[in-house]
Amino acid sequence: MASFPVDKIRDDFPILHQTVYGRPLIYFDNAASTQKPVQVIRAISGYYETDNCNIHRGVHFLSQRATETYEETRKMVQRFIHAASSNEIIFTKGTTESINLVASSFGKQYISPGDEVLISIMEHHANIVPWQQMCLERGARLQFIPIHDNGELNMEAYRSMVKEKTKLVAITHVSNVLGTINPVKEIIAYAHSFGIPVLVDGAQSVSHLGADMQDLDCDFFCFSGHKMYAPMGIGVLYGKEKFLEAIPPYQTGGEMIKEVHTDGTTFNELPFKFEAGTPNVEGVYGLNAAIRYVENLGLENIRKYENEILEYATAKLSEFDDIRIIGTAKEKTSVISFLIGTIHPYDAGVIIDKMGIAVRTGHHCAMPLLERYRIPATVRASFAFYNTAEEVDSLMEAIRKVKKIFG
Ligand code: PLP
Repeated sequence: MASFPVDKIRDDFPILHQTVYGRPLIYFDNAASTQKPVQVIRAISGYYETDNCNIHRGVHFLSQRATETYEETRKMVQRFIHAASSNEIIFTKGTTESINLVASSFGKQYISPGDEVLISIMEHHANIVPWQQMCLERGARLQFIPIHDNGELNMEAYRSMVKEKTKLVAITHVSNVLGTINPVKEIIAYAHSFGIPVLVDGAQSVSHLGADMQDLDCDFFCFSGHKMYAPMGIGVLYGKEKFLEAIPPYQTGGEMIKEVHTDGTTFNELPFKFEAGTPNVEGVYGLNAAIRYVENLGLENIRKYENEILEYATAKLSEFDDIRIIGTAKEKTSVISFLIGTIHPYDAGVIIDKMGIAVRTGHHCAMPLLERYRIPATVRASFAFYNTAEEVDSLMEAIRKVKKIFG
């Protein structure tokens, strides 16, 4: 871990330099939301100090400057995820809104009674409920691909579930509970061999693995800024142009309109067709700075360092004979869900918190997955590139304390 400049990186994250309950804050809740470097914080305050203005509609200087940054960022996202065109990049509130958009608009265009949508049992609620609702409305059926006990997707079952009636596959790239990296390229190629489009939920993958639309060849890809060092309330929907052209608008009003007359309205072209109302301009400024930050560090370096932290933490947890790790897939990102004997995760979480360590406890918005394991909750530690092995040691100390109190 010596070559990764973690101390220097930590200097960029002001929030990490504080104490809670008299102890240095240790932040292991990165799968829920990452912290923001000063570069992102400054980009947001800089927007309000010098550029604040509504975009697209103004001819004046400020409006033009803000519009330029907004549209430059769209191109930056296009490059970052290797999309073929910036028309394929839609700014949304985040992954949840991106998936809701596709479920609603794709559903209206392509889903009929008796059709099937295929998702997996390890999905976050954001990649379950929009499909569930859409299937209810359209008389379609939602099917769940099962997983193996180690948290890997059952690919054999997946292949057997793809049928003529299947109209879409929606799958998470990385599980927010198990850390499993799904073989999405293989999943996409198989669905495509039957002409079925695929949506990939990239909320948990993009900050660890990056994303390459040309390599994956998925039809839709969604991610959230706040899980990759950018602000909350900004996210991206990538969609292949042919699908974004074919599906109807999700919301109406604002820049998505071309002309309105008393007898009807025509809609703007891509990508504006899906960006109704005043957009989150400051969020886009923040996303711009976050992408630059991540690219500066280098996704390869990030992945290597985070893998080392994951391996270290997994080895340390395995030293306890009563810790059960939920999710032991071969390919994982830096997320570990676990149970400490029979101690309830909430009880453990309270003690761990009092040691200044932020972990998440609960169902992690993946209730069907936890039902699959017949457990109500887990403790989840999720690591980012600013975390250290010493911090992992502190978590082990906290676990020993939990065991002493409740064991
Ligand atoms: N999908 C996955 C895999 C997630 O982990 C999350 C958030 O935790 C979401 C979707 C929803 O993301 P957001 O709340 O940013 O829309």
